[in-house]
Amino acid sequence: MRAVCHCHFCQAYTGREKSDFVIYRRGQVQLPEANKARFRFFKKPAFVDRGACIECGGAAYEHVNIPLLPGLVFIPAPNHEQTGVLPDPALHMFYHRRKTDVADSVPKYTGPLNGEWQFVRRLIWALVSSRS
Ligand SMILES: [Zn+2]
Repeated sequence: MRAVCHCHFCQAYTGREKSDFVIYRRGQVQLPEANKARFRFFKKPAFVDRGACIECGGAAYEHVNIPLLPGLVFIPAPNHEQTGVLPDPALHMFYHRRKTDVADSVPKYTGPLNGEWQFVRRLIWALVSSRS
């Protein structure tokens, strides 16, 4: 699944107006050695451990541990070698924090609770309907 988040933490983490990221089960991706990135939690509860490249400081990947869900890895869409093969985003969340309007047909959710609920709802469906 792919999603776009406009929250302040994602803006700070990516250095961009929004975080456009793709979600994988931990076993689906081969990650660089852990010492190639510096990890940091931006807020509590500490579900999202955000890794920045130790060389350029750019957003590298995130370890995500949401209770009751399998371990996940979020990778910024621009970090993929071929962005054209990625699925379309499932939603925009924290859209009330957007720096600029986005003109696409992807559902947009405002408010933290609604956005996170819509994200988790779609994520659970994507996990259930995809093979590991
Ligand atoms: Zn965010």
